[in-house]
Amino acid sequence: MNVLYLKCVSCGTTYPKNKIIYRCGCGQSLDIVYDYSRIGRKITWQKLRKRKFCHWRYREFYPIENDKNIRTMEEGGTPLIRSSIWCKKLKFDLHFKYEGVNPTGSFKDRGTTVEISKAVEFGAKKLVCASTGNMGASVAAYASRAGLDATIFVPKKTTTSSKINQIVIYGSKIRFIDGDYDAAIAACNKEQKKSNAYLLGDYPYRGEGEKSVSYEIADENGVPDYVICPIGNGTLLGGMWKGFVEMKKTRLTKKLPKIIAVQASGCNTVVSAFNKKINYVEHSEAKTKASAIACGTPLDGLKALHALQQNKGYGIAVSDKEMLSAQRMLSREGVYAEMSGAATFAALLKTRNKIRKNSKIVLIATGHGLKDV
Ligand SMILES: [Zn+2]
Repeated sequence: MNVLYLKCVSCGTTYPKNKIIYRCGCGQSLDIVYDYSRIGRKITWQKLRKRKFCHWRYREFYPIENDKNIRTMEEGGTPLIRSSIWCKKLKFDLHFKYEGVNPTGSFKDRGTTVEISKAVEFGAKKLVCASTGNMGASVAAYASRAGLDATIFVPKKTTTSSKINQIVIYGSKIRFIDGDYDAAIAACNKEQKKSNAYLLGDYPYRGEGEKSVSYEIADENGVPDYVICPIGNGTLLGGMWKGFVEMKKTRLTKKLPKIIAVQASGCNTVVSAFNKKINYVEHSEAKTKASAIACGTPLDGLKALHALQQNKGYGIAVSDKEMLSAQRMLSREGVYAEMSGAATFAALLKTRNKIRKNSKIVLIATGHGLKDV
């Protein structure tokens, strides 16, 4: 209802909002442009807070034209848990946004509810999606709920059994692909062209859903000084930054946080582009056991890189060993995050001397530890 058009993040080409399109003709990601003065006239925190605390509380910021197309499981509304141990030890006001309690156990449900609602709006019946596992599990659940037929393409070697079990039990077809996540994307795209199925994944509508993590953080505890967020495809980081900027444009906040991006050192494409001050993201092999961020060619890498450049934040690469150690440290106070989510804490430990004491910091713990044991 509030969408104006779609725009390429690289060449600036625009596309009408009623056209099904996944990427720009130049191959890059698309961004969705809204009428923020219209949204700003309609909402205030007071009005929003009369609605239930979950993802759809902020529905004016999503690209759904008609509310009857919304398919939801009341995702979002996840707890912002204050650290009991590390606040004292590190002398920060530290919180974990614990995304493991979403309906399928990861932040992906925020993007999926919007993508599936949009697929319903476009009249789609058959869906295809390539995934490292979490997105596939999430799409499988929401597709079944919406009565849509979904096929999920996953890398055979690296997708964890818990994520495969989720995809199967929710009722989607699964295709195991030899090779990495990039190979799964190639197979999925080939099938999409052949069958004309609706393509889900880190395309424009998903990022719009993943923005809600920023609205919830601001809504519950105000905009923090720092947010530390992992990068797989870069969709979450790009969406989260867009969410904070949108809150400023619609006068819900005056403050913006500093963003610290985290990648695995065996797959640190965006962090490396940011540090080299280049305006493109190079391909890398995905050498990490943190399966959810093992993306050698991040689909929204450029979006995440632009977010980091605009924010004047910075990026950190952490090793698998550092992630596993951070995962154990977080678990000792009850927060069991999967490796890619624990990467945020590993990054904080590495950068803590650069952050002033008593800063308000939020770490995005993206998925439940049980997803990747
Ligand atoms: Zn373009």
